[in-house]
Amino acid sequence: MAKKALIFGAGLAGTCLAHRLLSSGIEVKIVDQGSNNSSAVAAGMVNPMVFRRMNKSWRLDEFLPEAQAFYQEIERVLQTHFYHPIVIRRFFSSNEERESWQSRSEEEAYAPYLAKLTASDLAHTAALNTFGSGRVQNAFWVDAEKWVGQHISYFKQRGLLVQEEFSSNLWEPKLRKYAGETYDFVVFCMGYRQKEEQTFSYLPLQQTKGQTLLIESDQISDLESLNRKCFVLPYGEGRFRVGATYEFNNSTLHVTEAGKVLLLENLASLGSYEPVVVAQTAGVRPTVLDRRPLMGQHPIYRGVYIFNGLGTKGYMMAPTLARELVAHMLENKPLHSETNISRFTDRTL
Ligand SMILES: Cc1cc2nc3c(=O)[nH]c(=O)nc-3n(C[C@H](O)[C@H](O)[C@H](O)COP(=O)(O)OP(=O)(O)OC[C@H]3O[C@@H](n4cnc5c(N)ncnc54)[C@H](O)[C@@H]3O)c2cc1C
Repeated sequence: MAKKALIFGAGLAGTCLAHRLLSSGIEVKIVDQGSNNSSAVAAGMVNPMVFRRMNKSWRLDEFLPEAQAFYQEIERVLQTHFYHPIVIRRFFSSNEERESWQSRSEEEAYAPYLAKLTASDLAHTAALNTFGSGRVQNAFWVDAEKWVGQHISYFKQRGLLVQEEFSSNLWEPKLRKYAGETYDFVVFCMGYRQKEEQTFSYLPLQQTKGQTLLIESDQISDLESLNRKCFVLPYGEGRFRVGATYEFNNSTLHVTEAGKVLLLENLASLGSYEPVVVAQTAGVRPTVLDRRPLMGQHPIYRGVYIFNGLGTKGYMMAPTLARELVAHMLENKPLHSETNISRFTDRTL
C-alpha cells in the first residue's frame, strides 16, 4: 500500500512538495485555508544575481537549471503556461557598481549570467542612464497568481485538496494523526503563519511584508525587466509590476499609501514616467535571519516535517529544496546543512 503524506499549506512550498511526493509514489492530501498566500502576490522573479554584493545567488548553479526544468515540466502536467524567460537590465547607480559588474562578467563562473558590457548597454535609453547598464541572462519569472490559482483547481479536481483552516484540536503530533486519520508523513508549509501553530513555533521564522504595484504605462519599454532601486516586470499590453517593499517584522496584509509612495519614488529613479496605478498588493514573506530555508524533521515528533523560510528567492529554490526534502523523508538522505532546522534545535530546545 502506498505511504500517505499530509501537507498543511498550498503555497509555493506545499505545491512543489506535493509534486515531488506524487512523483515518488506517495499519496498526498493537502489542507489549505485558501488565503493569505505570499506565493500568489509574489512577482515570481528569478534573478540569478544579488546586486547589492554583485554575487551569484546562493547555490545558483544547482537551483537555477532545476527550477527552469521543473516549471516547464509542471506546465506540461497542468497544461497551462506560467514560465517566462526574461532579460533583466540593471541600471548602475555608480561608477563603482559598473566596474564591479565589468570585472565579474570577466569571471568564467559569471559568464552564463552577466553579459559582457557593450557600447549600447552603456548608452542604453530605456531609463535614466548616467553610469551605464548591464544585462542579466538566464533569468525568468513565474506567473505567481496563475501558479497558485491553477494548482488549487488541479489538486481540488483530483480530490487531493481540502480548503479549510488547520485546527490544533484535530492534530495529534505524536501519532501523526489529523482529523482522526494517521499519516506516514506530515509536512507544515504554512508560510509566515507557521508562527501561530505550536508544533514548529520554536523556530525563528520572521515575517517580512512586501507590497507591489501593478501599473499601466506606454512610456516604459516592455522588452526587458528594468532594475534600479526597484524592479519593473513587463506583463504585456502596457502593464508592469513594480516592486517590492521590505517591511520587517510586519505581518499585516493591507496595502499602504506609504508603500505606494515609496514604490513610485523608486520607479522615478528609472525615469520620469507618468504611470497609472491599476492595483496594489501586499503579502508577507516567510524569512529567516540567516537567509536560509527551514527544512527537516521535528526534533521530537518523528515523521513530522517543515518546509518554510523561502524568503525572497522562493521561486528559484523551491523545486530543488522540495526534491531534497523528499529524498530526506523517504531515503534518509542528509539535508544540506544550511537548510536543516537542526541548526536551531540544540540552541532552542
Ligand atoms: C510582495 C512580494 C513579492 C515577492 N516577490 C518574489 C519574487 O519575485 N521572487 C521570489 O522568488 N519570491 C518572491 N516573494 C517571496 C515568495 O512569495 C515566498 O518565498 C514564497 O511564496 C513562500 O511560499 P510558502 O508556500 O512558504 O508560503 P505561502 O505562499 O504564504 O503559502 C502558505 C500557505 O499556507 C496556507 N496556510 C497558512 N496558515 C494556514 C492555516 N492555519 N490553515 C490552513 N492553511 C494555512 C495559506 O493559505 C497559504 O496557501 C515575494 C513575496 C512578496 C510578499
